[in-house]
Amino acid sequence: MTPLATSAILLRRRDYGDYDLIVTFFTQSQGKVTLMAKAAKKSARRFAGVLELFSEVDIIATSGRRSGLPVLQEAALKHPFAQIRVLPTRIAYASYWSELVDVWMEDRVTQTELYRLLLHVLRELDQGVTSEAVLSVLFQMRLLRISGHSPNLKLCGICRKAVDAVRPNVLGVDVAKGGIACLGCLPPSPDGPHLSKGTIKQLQWIADGDLPRATRIRFSPVAISEALRFLESFVPYHLGRQPRSLGVLRQLRGSLP
Ligand SMILES: [Zn+2]
Repeated sequence: MTPLATSAILLRRRDYGDYDLIVTFFTQSQGKVTLMAKAAKKSARRFAGVLELFSEVDIIATSGRRSGLPVLQEAALKHPFAQIRVLPTRIAYASYWSELVDVWMEDRVTQTELYRLLLHVLRELDQGVTSEAVLSVLFQMRLLRISGHSPNLKLCGICRKAVDAVRPNVLGVDVAKGGIACLGCLPPSPDGPHLSKGTIKQLQWIADGDLPRATRIRFSPVAISEALRFLESFVPYHLGRQPRSLGVLRQLRGSLP
């Protein structure tokens, strides 16, 4: 294997023995890659302060011996995003997004648009200007589109009536069927997610087009609560696994308005 040289976001790290780390990167050029970082724990100088979660680094890796993992040779910080790691809710959101990416991506499949998206929300989270919840809605709606799981938000998935023609203004969500359903077809459930028409429009706007502009879309507290409740059940269902980090995120955030 020719050496891998690319920018990459650190998604996951775990100990390997007393000295080494196994690190999973989302690389710009080759998608998800898991590497051995030798002596990363033992030596203060080797990768010191570089292998922090959610940071973007320039890495060089070479193939390991026989069938072992490729070995991380060099890593230089590009964007530390250090302000993410100072607040528990920021860590929780970044962990949730990283876990979704890790769950969905296959090894060594390039995902340029998703890379740009994750980098964008991490940068915004680090700067602390845009609300964490809006970033999470943006990230999840676009991840659904990129992964081919965009929800149907245009018509009732059962009777096919268009959203504009549905009364009242609130629709239910049929997660397994992949989208919304009118309350005539899907009786309201107190625990299940539901979406009002205004929130549905905002979800459609935020899923497409220019990233900086979509980031500035304003949500009312009710809309953001509906959107998060909907996405945090829809996304794990369609990506096929309940992320462990979602429980932590919900605990830290407390109840939605
Ligand atoms: Zn219907």
